[in-house]
Amino acid sequence: MKKVLMSSCLLGEKVRYDGGSLALTGQIIDHWLSEGRVVSVCPEVEAGMSIPRLPAEIYKGNGDDVLNGKANVIEQGGIVVTRAFLDGASIALDLCSKFKIEIAVLAEFSPSCGSSFIYDGGFSGRKVSGIGVAAALLRRCGVQVFSQHELADANKAMQATGG
Ligand code: SF4
Repeated sequence: MKKVLMSSCLLGEKVRYDGGSLALTGQIIDHWLSEGRVVSVCPEVEAGMSIPRLPAEIYKGNGDDVLNGKANVIEQGGIVVTRAFLDGASIALDLCSKFKIEIAVLAEFSPSCGSSFIYDGGFSGRKVSGIGVAAALLRRCGVQVFSQHELADANKAMQATGG
């Protein structure tokens, strides 16, 4: 059975920067969990970041730019935390390799996990098109990355890979 990588916060784990979660509910998640299909990861916490922690955003770029050394992730206040975000992305990729994972469902808007939208880097609350660092690395390595708003698509993609 194919495994799926999921952001820990979507599974109710209180790993977000503010100590909260974004617990998802519904038939698809319940089914995946009952099948033992889900592998959970929080790239930021796996990389050693604390709970809670300061919010972080990608400054002047997106996750691909960070992977290319062209942009940094900064905490509110300006401390550069790029290294931890790169480490977290590598840990997520290692899990995909270990479990031969081809599908990931990651939390939208996060500087690690966002797959279509992230915050604009100015801590203004504005969201822009873009991808987080872990999502970008996974996509670059062939993993299909979906957000929590695309669960049905993720499920279809899973079935298309042979389930
Ligand atoms: Fe961790 Fe990703 Fe959730 Fe942020 S969005 S708390 S990095 S799992």
